[in-house]
Amino acid sequence: MADAPPTGKLPDDAEPLAYALNLKIDPRADRFSGRVQIRVKLTKPLDHIWLHASEIDVDKIEVTDALGKVHQAHFEMRDKSGVAEVSFNGTLSAQNVELAIDYNAAFNTKLQGLYKVKVGGDSYVVTQMEAISARYAFPSFDEPRFKTPFEVTLTVPKEEVAVANTRPIKEAASGDGQWKTISFAKTKPLPTYLVAVAVGPWDVVDGPTIAANSVRKQPTALRGIAPRGAGPQLKWILQQTPPIIAYYENYTQQPYPFDKLDLLGAPDFSAGAMENAGLIVFRDALLRIDANSTASTYRTGFNVNAHEIAHQWFGDLVTVPWWNDIWLNEAFATWAQGKATVDLKPDFQGDLSRLEGTLGAMRSDSLLSARKIRQPILSNDDIQTAFDGITYQKGAAVLRMFEEWLGETNYRQAMRNYLRAHALGSGSSDDLIASIAAASGKGETVEAAMRSFLDQPGIPFLHTKLGCKDGKATLAVSQSRYLPFGVVSSDHLQWKLPVCVRFDRGGKRSKQCFLLDQRAQDFAVDGGCADAYLPNADAVGYYRFAMDETDFAALRKLVATLPPAEQVIYADSVSSAFVQGTFSAGAVLDAMPGLANSDVPQVAAALFDQFAWIREYLATDATRPILDAYAMKLYAPRLAALGLQPLPADTPMTTEMRVRLVGFLAFVVRDEALRQELNRQGRIALGLDSGGTVDLTRINPDLRGAALKAAVQESGEPAFRAIIGELTVNHQTRQRYELLAALGATHDAKLGEEARNYGTTPAVAVGEIASLYSSHVAESENRGAFWQWMQTHYDPLAGRFPDQNQSYVLRVAGAGRCTKPQYEELQTWFAQRAPTLIGGQRVAAQSLETIDQCFALRAHAGANALEGWAQSHR
Ligand SMILES: [Zn+2]
Repeated sequence: MADAPPTGKLPDDAEPLAYALNLKIDPRADRFSGRVQIRVKLTKPLDHIWLHASEIDVDKIEVTDALGKVHQAHFEMRDKSGVAEVSFNGTLSAQNVELAIDYNAAFNTKLQGLYKVKVGGDSYVVTQMEAISARYAFPSFDEPRFKTPFEVTLTVPKEEVAVANTRPIKEAASGDGQWKTISFAKTKPLPTYLVAVAVGPWDVVDGPTIAANSVRKQPTALRGIAPRGAGPQLKWILQQTPPIIAYYENYTQQPYPFDKLDLLGAPDFSAGAMENAGLIVFRDALLRIDANSTASTYRTGFNVNAHEIAHQWFGDLVTVPWWNDIWLNEAFATWAQGKATVDLKPDFQGDLSRLEGTLGAMRSDSLLSARKIRQPILSNDDIQTAFDGITYQKGAAVLRMFEEWLGETNYRQAMRNYLRAHALGSGSSDDLIASIAAASGKGETVEAAMRSFLDQPGIPFLHTKLGCKDGKATLAVSQSRYLPFGVVSSDHLQWKLPVCVRFDRGGKRSKQCFLLDQRAQDFAVDGGCADAYLPNADAVGYYRFAMDETDFAALRKLVATLPPAEQVIYADSVSSAFVQGTFSAGAVLDAMPGLANSDVPQVAAALFDQFAWIREYLATDATRPILDAYAMKLYAPRLAALGLQPLPADTPMTTEMRVRLVGFLAFVVRDEALRQELNRQGRIALGLDSGGTVDLTRINPDLRGAALKAAVQESGEPAFRAIIGELTVNHQTRQRYELLAALGATHDAKLGEEARNYGTTPAVAVGEIASLYSSHVAESENRGAFWQWMQTHYDPLAGRFPDQNQSYVLRVAGAGRCTKPQYEELQTWFAQRAPTLIGGQRVAAQSLETIDQCFALRAHAGANALEGWAQSHR
């Protein structure tokens, strides 16, 4: 035992070739047992090897050498991150050996590894291995570069349903008839993080078969799996699935790689969903869709399904060798999901959804503490925190920007080449970049440009000025890093990027793209002088811009005629100039009327968040009523025209408009009449006036969450009690999120205390906790009391989360804070808490930076920021 345990990558001298995994699982028990046999290639003489295991009790361990001789071995946990040493009785020469380990362990209670969830009287066992939790379920070489076949066998009580990555091939009953043993087909080569099993009293529903096509010769079986009783709610998502598979098969020219596809809705889950090969596991709320579901549930369910299915190629068929490239998995899947949604569901406005996703990523990417897309992995912390908006949405936006520049055909060819070259094996981001560079014919230019986005943080910020002389036009562009007011960076980042510009000449529109690869450049514009331009045509560029003042004034006149995505980009340029301190709050407010009349919800609502910030942090008792009256004048007539009830002519767009207007007017502007109407509907759903029972189907599902929240805020205790009662019997996960968010939104001090305590009890599932507390701290009334409560309740709350999710607690503690004393108070508290949490230091740095920016901007705007504006809008 001379060497120190490898807490990063395992050494290269032992490599797994195949696993046989036998698990005996009774969901009603507290523990399970297992036997794992791993064929291991020793590449040199060794007296010990390293592997991963965590919270596992080993009963017996043996090594069988290439000649069939059995050797004793010794197993010892060597590092709390889950590194174990297997030492042999002497040295074994380089050869293939078989390692067999019998073990037992408790089911995990925090949604990692092999974990257990109870719903009512039913118990379910589900797995979540990514990123590094397979080690809780079975001893393994728990790294993505090791792809091997798995032969899984499950022994379960005879009445339970058991599923795994592949089809069952054999089933046998135990001698006493109490158990059954199911053997599943050998998998394609998989990394440990994609292995999955589930056992419980599941409903299993057959979906439409995924028909054969020119890419895949055999039809593929599709099933939906959900908690007992929920099977009928899977019909819609199953119907959507075969076209998604066909879309990716056509795009990639690679058949769906596995022998069946199951979509499983887990009753509690730490993330949204997980792309296990052939057995995708979702939060069941994403799959359970019926007439009582909100429009956004349909949209989100479809999007997440398209994302996880994309992973079957991007991540599962080709896997990144190490976690520093995990961005590629997620960026790929997010980018591909956007393409599939735009193509298959035009009603869902996938182009605008992904644009809002990109702008969300820009919010975190404008912090000085933002991480890079391709972040070096220095510790297990870095592995667990690699799954954020930078990885998913920024990564996807960058892939899309380069797709637009290089052309869809070249890009598709590059993707096909990459998948073909690395199918059933590993591919890195450098492999992909090389493939894109080759297919595009732009070689090193593309490589350097992509690297400038992957290997440095931040958003490029362009300054543009259009010059016109003798009929010839020149666009002067310079670049720096976008930073909010008061933030100074010494790193002078610079990017190589395609800049596509929309030009307008007397209503005629054209687009021209330039490659900006210097700090400042002048570009000749085709077609000569222009009346106006927008420096981000089609909104596909991952950058922000500030235009010369006269140029911006010319653009402003055309805003109403721009396509929706470009209107959203225009709104972002106004809002980001305000955050930089170059535009006044009045300039933001004055930009609202140009957007308010759009039929597209993402456009009409584009400045809602900025309005809410101004209202909360800059308005005074004197100016707030004027702000509210202004917003009412712009938006109340639009809501009145739509009404609060669904209409036969509603499209997903009108429904989304109604939902956003209600959210804004009732809970930001706080329109009293609207709040009372929602309260009335909430009381109907809760049965408060009829003395009857709760029945959430009595009201419009799209406004159900808003009505429940208004009822708690306006009716107080009776509504609060009715919801607590309903939560003991309601197992509709999506409705539970709404009920918990309503509880958290109370403005009553006593009920607030009760809501906070409630979230630490088992009445709230782990995956539901965030619904309660995020809603709670979104209300400025609650933040002070929440902070006090947190001083004594940190451990019971944080302790409920999976290790990698605990830093959520730091995030909510910092939410909405905007003063120097609050900053200092949190800084002290974070200093104690953050170092012990996975990703805690990053969350702490980002929270503090956000608060710092908030009060810097507030001070810059000044105490009288809105007085002049209010004078002219009274
Ligand atoms: Zn994903």
